[in-house]
Amino acid sequence: MKFGGTSLGKPHRMQEVADLVTADSEIKIVVLSALSGTTNALAEISKLLSLNERNAAKQMIDALEVHYQDFILALLSDPKLLIKGKAALAEHFEFLYIILKISFSEALQKDILAQGELLSTKLFSLCLASKNIEHKLLPALEFMTLDNQDEPQVGTIKVKLSQLMQKNRETKIFLTQGYITRNARGEIDNLKRGGSDYSASLIAAAMNASVCEIWTDIDGMHNNDPRVVKKTRPVEQLSFDEAAELAYFGAKILHPSSIWPAQLFNVPVRILNTMAPGAKGTLISKEAGSVGVKAVAAKDNITAIRIKSSRMLLAYGFLRKVFEVFEKYKTSIDMITTSEVAVSVTIDSDTYIKDIIRDLEILGSVEIDTNQTIVSIVGNEITETKEIMRKLFESLMAIPVRMVSYGGSRHNISLLIPSSYKEESLQLLNEGLFDL
Ligand code: ADP
Ligand code: ASP
Ligand code: MG
Repeated sequence: MKFGGTSLGKPHRMQEVADLVTADSEIKIVVLSALSGTTNALAEISKLLSLNERNAAKQMIDALEVHYQDFILALLSDPKLLIKGKAALAEHFEFLYIILKISFSEALQKDILAQGELLSTKLFSLCLASKNIEHKLLPALEFMTLDNQDEPQVGTIKVKLSQLMQKNRETKIFLTQGYITRNARGEIDNLKRGGSDYSASLIAAAMNASVCEIWTDIDGMHNNDPRVVKKTRPVEQLSFDEAAELAYFGAKILHPSSIWPAQLFNVPVRILNTMAPGAKGTLISKEAGSVGVKAVAAKDNITAIRIKSSRMLLAYGFLRKVFEVFEKYKTSIDMITTSEVAVSVTIDSDTYIKDIIRDLEILGSVEIDTNQTIVSIVGNEITETKEIMRKLFESLMAIPVRMVSYGGSRHNISLLIPSSYKEESLQLLNEGLFDL
């Protein structure tokens, strides 16, 4: 069971989470994010420190400490547990005050970002103790690891976590931190923003869990982004492939990589609402349930690159040369479209864009479009769905579409549009494809 920031962000919510984890007597691993707002605050503090703005950073740490002091006062009424809560805050805030005095580094930034999950799990452990609920807190930093490619390994997690669990055979409720991990150098690292979903899926896969429950602040994966369009509805069932496409192409409710571990080890994933525990939510499993369009998602900050060359005409090996450039700079490509003399690709990381352009210019002329958005339409056998292209193009008649990717997978059609048209496009698709 993984609980996100909003599910834990108020003392009364944390109490409700305690009720949810004790609703049955099955053995479970509870994976927690930081309280809502904390990781954003820690990221801001690191940024201020990297700019050497120590006073501003200190003010933010002060404000965060006040927030946590108020939180534990409302959470813990037993004086003994309150003392323990104060000690936990003292430990982590002391760390933050110490780093104000030392020089900033990338490794230090990871240490700062880890404080949120370290704090939330300690406070939740005290919350369970206040209800006399037996449990054991297992530090994620003792079993979550990245290999030297910065990839988590389910096998390693399995060995280490099993050992820890076997030392506590009587325990039914295990707690741990989402998001944080050790890297191949043994340093504290993380699974990128929103990474607690990924932690939960990796742990569920490693332990061969019967289910991986993602408890959040909405009743499942919706058919469209509820932050952008007014009317959306939950999708009852998705296949792993459909959910993976939605997560990867921008549905913030799931971390982009969070589906593969569950899919590989065939652990069903349920998305559930902490605020409405009785709601059906979304079941993600091998079965898609039904065919046709299920949902739309959008991924921002995309750059499109067009490489034009008459040498591509009737030539072989040209695409390989193009792809090698992206491989060289460890930049993954999301969409590809080709004509006889040109190829367009999209990337979501501009880190090496200058090097990439320089190398591509050897192959042909290069055009760049920044501030693009990929809009993905996802559904089982969607490309075989009747009328889908007519509906799609009719809906988006007024939108300047830059690329269309159809047929790459049977459950995804992707379009590239300028980001300024995203809201309008998602709204039009909501009307045209879902009658909402
Ligand atoms: P948590 O803190 O529980 O991890 P997140 O904020 O990361 O929660 O994810 C949940 C949020 O994702 C929702 O509140 C919603 O605004 C957003 N979201 C974006 N796309 C979707 C979608 N297709 N379905 C449901 N929620 C979505
Ligand atoms: N606390 C982390 C974040 O805000 C991880 C998570 O919430 O999943 O990104
Ligand atoms: Mg999240």
